[in-house]
Amino acid sequence: MTTQAYRYLFGPVPSRRLGLSLGVDLVPSKTCSLDCVYCESGTTTHLTVKRREWVPTEAVKEEISRYLLEHDAPDAVTFSGAGEPTLHTGIGDVARHIKKEAPGTRVVLLTNGTLFHMEAVRRDVLPVDLVVASYDAFDSDLFKVINRPHSSLNPQVMAEGLLTFREMYGGEFWLEFFVVPGVNDQEKELANIARVAKELRPHRIQVNTLDRPGAEAWVKPADAEILKRVAGTLEAGEVISSYDDSRKRLMVSDDVEAAILGMIGRRPATLADFVSSLGVNVDVLEEVLDQLLKKGCIVEECQGRGRFYKLSNGPKD
Ligand code: SF4
Repeated sequence: MTTQAYRYLFGPVPSRRLGLSLGVDLVPSKTCSLDCVYCESGTTTHLTVKRREWVPTEAVKEEISRYLLEHDAPDAVTFSGAGEPTLHTGIGDVARHIKKEAPGTRVVLLTNGTLFHMEAVRRDVLPVDLVVASYDAFDSDLFKVINRPHSSLNPQVMAEGLLTFREMYGGEFWLEFFVVPGVNDQEKELANIARVAKELRPHRIQVNTLDRPGAEAWVKPADAEILKRVAGTLEAGEVISSYDDSRKRLMVSDDVEAAILGMIGRRPATLADFVSSLGVNVDVLEEVLDQLLKKGCIVEECQGRGRFYKLSNGPKD
């Protein structure tokens, strides 16, 4: 059985950073405090900083328990998906539930870092083992260009919130910087980011760049030279590494169509991504993709990294 039987869980997918990772989506697609130009999940349809129980906390916990009964525990359970997980007021409750039900599994939060000026967010995130926070711009104008934030947000307050959290948090903390060439890769802005990073003392700094189609077509991947320069300026910077696929999971063919739709409902993927994530024979994948194209369920789009498949009407709710 795949997680297509689940409403709030997706994967597990081999993450470039976390190993085999089961995703938990705590907000409806696409509910976020930002509308990043590089977002792989498309344009934000609900731009908000309002925290609430966007999906029922008890239902999420029940799905996690059921998943763990039916499958091996993954390397990580990751709050991610098509939106900002800290907008959900039950995130701490769900994190504690995962730790109780799967003690050897890392609980991870991928966050845009915008809400840590709120005391309740800092408190709710404490049970998480690893926080990966994004910080793409210190300059307010660049922040608006790249992250298109909710009007109440500003990047300096965001940095202060992260710093306050960092001082009280005992878990692992990584900082991620997404390079948008020609926008936030100039020397002055990189010096700003490096200063914030120094104060935050992350265990790891990751430099990321586009490898799937983003929300805006003008956003291009950074080339190797830019990535090297940025990683050098930020010190300890690393370009995100690829996944060790030795634990990839096999899947029966009946599940393939649902698994493909589940994957690209969140972000576009190439044939190689499907092979790597689903562990399915390439001929089977090509046949299923062909059928989905003919039925009009999915469309193709050519990008630098190859031919991407995505839902014909954008990400699913
Ligand atoms: S990249 Fe993350 S923070 Fe930015 S719009 Fe997409 S979901 Fe929100």
